[in-house]
Amino acid sequence: MIRKLLRRVFKGDAAPIAPPGTPSTPVVIPVTRHGITRERILPGARRTCEFLQQAGHKAFVVGGAVRDLIAGIVPKDYDIATDATPNQVHMLFRRSRLIGRRFQIVHVMQGGETLEVSTFRAAHDADTVKDEHGRVLRDNVFGTQADDAARRDFTVNALYYDPATETVIDYHHGVADLQQKVLRMIGEPRARYREDPVRMLRAVRLSAKLGLTLDPLLSAPIQEMAGLIENVPPARLFDEMLKLLFSGHAVECVKRLRDEGLHHGLLPLLDVILEQPLGEKFVMLSLASTDARVKAGKSLSPGYLFATLLWHEVLANWEIRKGRGESAMPAMFEAMDEILDLQAEKLAITRRVAGDIKDIWMLQPRFEKRVGKSPFRLLEQPRFRAGYDFLLLRAQSGEIDMELADWWLAFQSADEAAREAMLLPENDPKKRRRRVRGKKANANPAADLPVTGSAD
Ligand code: ATP
Ligand code: MG
Repeated sequence: MIRKLLRRVFKGDAAPIAPPGTPSTPVVIPVTRHGITRERILPGARRTCEFLQQAGHKAFVVGGAVRDLIAGIVPKDYDIATDATPNQVHMLFRRSRLIGRRFQIVHVMQGGETLEVSTFRAAHDADTVKDEHGRVLRDNVFGTQADDAARRDFTVNALYYDPATETVIDYHHGVADLQQKVLRMIGEPRARYREDPVRMLRAVRLSAKLGLTLDPLLSAPIQEMAGLIENVPPARLFDEMLKLLFSGHAVECVKRLRDEGLHHGLLPLLDVILEQPLGEKFVMLSLASTDARVKAGKSLSPGYLFATLLWHEVLANWEIRKGRGESAMPAMFEAMDEILDLQAEKLAITRRVAGDIKDIWMLQPRFEKRVGKSPFRLLEQPRFRAGYDFLLLRAQSGEIDMELADWWLAFQSADEAAREAMLLPENDPKKRRRRVRGKKANANPAADLPVTGSAD
């Protein structure tokens, strides 16, 4: 009923996000229906809510944490929403600091935990500053709890949990949507994408993470509006892509990005990579191993991941350059620079990450040199491990012979004498064979790297 009414109210792109029809009486859901007992809440989040409530304020755990707890997932972070102003919050908590100039939030430190506390915010009004495509540049109006719920993106993200009563306050039927496994937009999807195109990526990421299907109303405009993502500042896009790729569900996310027609232009050329049989296998293997690392709680390196995503672009660019008669190694370095520059325009890959990417790429030709002192020097490189993992992925995807990766595995664990014995003689026939085969079949564009130059 309410949803029907909402749809009527939100008809048309120009509709405001929280017009007077926004539901102001939420459904209050008891613990028997949502299952979040107060013991399941991070102690610091609970204490923060209790403290604010004792001081006479409203305070709730909000957003992703409530959603994840209902879905049986351990939340990544906890947000608290309150009717106290940032200054009031800051005054109440000795260990807290005000963050942000335009719209202040408060970081409250509780033991080893940091909680993000924000004041109820309203959706923008007539004074909201937007760019020429309708993207909201500034929204900084305090509001009621109902306003705060309406400005959030998806119904499952607009849930407020009160640890004192163990109830969930639900303005937009988020609990029902979560239980029915549907991701639904609050308000009119086109208008919401126009305000913030990143919501398209969030829809894909959160639906993959939670195993939700996209409401047809939410997914219908995506393909047509995907171009708006180009107007998002590169730094934000980079953050969002990292969240997506490090979500632990990257393989599923990429599949869904494709289904929604969103894989074009995000990592410029990602679409091209995914269309090359070798490139696709390589990227998918890399994403699957990233997912496995996330699930095992291991550390993650953006540099390594982006190095894998872009590697086949480097190879393709390098082939073109060699075809133009450029000599192999300088052409390789030019190709690396060109591909990184292209990405930087869209994604604002930080300087540090770009440095890591290049380090890993530049080690690759050196793995092919198995004569003299070269392998010993390579072992001592600080990025050897990442370089070797990258080499293994290349072998697993069929780009290079597994024999090379096996050799390096054995070389790493061998003692000094055994290592010496493993070295190939200069002018080893294997090297020549590989060069000839690589050129003939043209299946391995990097096969002639070792013979044609040195990256030492
Ligand atoms: P996760 O933390 O699992 O990545 P999340 O939904 O919690 O997902 P956050 O970035 O932590 O994402 O955002 C916290 C909450 O802020 C969301 O649950 C949502 O209510 C709101 N929010 C975040 N981004 C947007 C957006 N682009 N538009 C509207 N609301 C948003
Ligand atoms: Mg979150």
